[in-house]
Amino acid sequence: MDVSDLPVSPAVKDSIRSDGIERLYPPQAEAVDAGVTRGENVVAAIPTAAGKTLIAELAMLTAGGPGLYIVPLRALAREKYEHFKSLPNVSAGITTSDVEPEATAVDQADIIVATAEKVDAAIRNGAAWIERLACVVIDEVHLVESKSRGPTLEVIVATLQQRAPGLQIVALSATIANPEAIANWLNATLVSSTWRPVSLRTGLYNPADDAVLFDDGNRLSVGTGSLDDKASTDFDPDLDTIITRELIKQATASGGQCLAFVRSRQQAEALAEHLLSESFDSCPELRASIMDSGSSAVSRQLAACAETGVAFHHAGLRNSHRELVEKAFRDRTLRVICATPTLAAGVNVPARRVVIRDLERFSGDSMEALPVMEVHQMCGRAGRPHLDPYGEAVLIGDIDTGHLNTTESSVMDARDFETDRYALWQRYIEAGPEAVHSQLPAEDPLQTHVLAIIASGFAASTTEVIQVLTGTFFAHESGTQTLQSHVESAISDLISMSLIESGDGSISATQIGRTVSKQYLTPTTGAQLRRGIKTMHEMSTSNITPLTALELICSTPDMYTTYLGNKERATTYRFAMRNANQFTTTVEDASPFEAWLSSVKIVRIVAELLDGTEISALTSDFQVGPGDIETYLERTTWLCGATDAIMRTMSLETEMAVFDRIHQSLFERMETESPLIDEQDWFI
Ligand code: ADP
Repeated sequence: MDVSDLPVSPAVKDSIRSDGIERLYPPQAEAVDAGVTRGENVVAAIPTAAGKTLIAELAMLTAGGPGLYIVPLRALAREKYEHFKSLPNVSAGITTSDVEPEATAVDQADIIVATAEKVDAAIRNGAAWIERLACVVIDEVHLVESKSRGPTLEVIVATLQQRAPGLQIVALSATIANPEAIANWLNATLVSSTWRPVSLRTGLYNPADDAVLFDDGNRLSVGTGSLDDKASTDFDPDLDTIITRELIKQATASGGQCLAFVRSRQQAEALAEHLLSESFDSCPELRASIMDSGSSAVSRQLAACAETGVAFHHAGLRNSHRELVEKAFRDRTLRVICATPTLAAGVNVPARRVVIRDLERFSGDSMEALPVMEVHQMCGRAGRPHLDPYGEAVLIGDIDTGHLNTTESSVMDARDFETDRYALWQRYIEAGPEAVHSQLPAEDPLQTHVLAIIASGFAASTTEVIQVLTGTFFAHESGTQTLQSHVESAISDLISMSLIESGDGSISATQIGRTVSKQYLTPTTGAQLRRGIKTMHEMSTSNITPLTALELICSTPDMYTTYLGNKERATTYRFAMRNANQFTTTVEDASPFEAWLSSVKIVRIVAELLDGTEISALTSDFQVGPGDIETYLERTTWLCGATDAIMRTMSLETEMAVFDRIHQSLFERMETESPLIDEQDWFI
């Protein structure tokens, strides 16, 4: 299908052509055939780089009213907003927590880009633009599977359908095992395709012959057998790291760029350091920009790596540094990024070769195999459109394959691999990704959304709450009966937390319940804050200090958690004992104790920030990344404001004064830190 055949204005057609698009890619043409430009609901489950943005754009520009584009991450929101803003005669608006537009900008926009949490907040606050929407595009709809993001996505879809009747829904998904289930839920036509503009071959390293075997039958010799350099480096890299290095060298020697994924922040840094001696093309601009915008030990390390054309990328970096690294890679001045898997879920950074060194990651107390969908998402970054003839993704590491069954292979001769490697091959290369399922029935999300529905006045009885939630993926998957029993139990929990009350056959939110919902707190955090505020009220005024406020908010479930090393455990404990009379939680009552003690570590960090200590000093004192500190600061500022609002409803003047002061100092500190944005799981 030719661009000239599209039902959009000549100016928009010119703009599409100016992006190098003359003909639609096959999945795009299928989406048009499925009615995406005629107001039909469409689910497009297609690989990365198959052109989902144009499908979304066509839907929103032909919907006959404003379009809303929902993304999971703030960084993605900005990327999409810049794109839609550049379309001729189209006004675009953006609403994320770091960009607070004039209400009118969103009110009058043809296309609004927003994070799911911002849309949720707009719905709860009765924003007028919601009801005028003609089309909603849900990017990355497979994230219904995510424990933190999925439930919000489901509830938004359910509420939007009721608030904006006739709304066209277009959902964009990675390839998943059950796209039909999503299409059924949304009453949409499914466009499912594995077509990619740049073909992708995926391979697994086979130690038996020191080569990568690809799914297209190709074999790539790695050459680690001839290497005897384990002793020649400072930190004795393991074999997987040596293989990774060789694969990166091969790819860059022929003009390619390479992304290497490892299991942890520390490993990303160590791999980048290991590659320093390779001297890829130097990146002086990246080095200079990093040094200009931060002087922590991590920044200096990153700048030194950039000098040799390598960078690392993980959530511990300042957001501005992550963006600089991504941009340098997209501009092709940077050859290699060593990253944690979070990079694959963020903005578009295509590479010729993707090397996945680690297939496991530490999760709490044990190593866990990465989900297939996540590995596919990393592999999908391989192949730069218009630059590479094909993309290559190589898997190296091991997982515990004891529980995996191997079956007859259709593509690869099983004898090529040892049994363990063959099980890996089947799991990650031959078999498809997992199916996605609703995460709404978990306690916290369900309570949060039920409270929001009641507090915003959308429902005044159990039956009405159920009616609102009938449009969720959960209801679709599990049926109304199951939904009903979950909703009833959430309502009784909310009543026991005094966030809602019942009477005369109807239910309504208490004043605190309304505040908790408006402030976007989870009910457990709201109830905990309320209890803590009461304790604070009973404390002697001389003991109420900034530490009291920080301990109260940092110990809530809505605060970010941190890791407590053995040595700092003792220091943190001593700090807690020394300041016990200023805390609302006693050491005996702290439960679970370890989690509470970790929150005291954050109390110490934020207290030092408020005293004016530099972030760079805190990162080395507390062994956390600058990005973590930005997140602590951002979250404490939010939680401080929210607690202030709860106190207002309780009319507690003295305590409010303490919070007001801290809130003000936190804000001032936020302002001295350059853009404080984006933590992968924190968007509002
Ligand atoms: P996705 O969101 O599916 O990962 P994008 O929509 O970002 O992919 O598109 C990836 C790249 O492909 C962009 O640079 C885009 O301009 C380009 N592209 C999209 N559709 C076409 C097309 N039909 N012809 C040529 N290039 C295209």
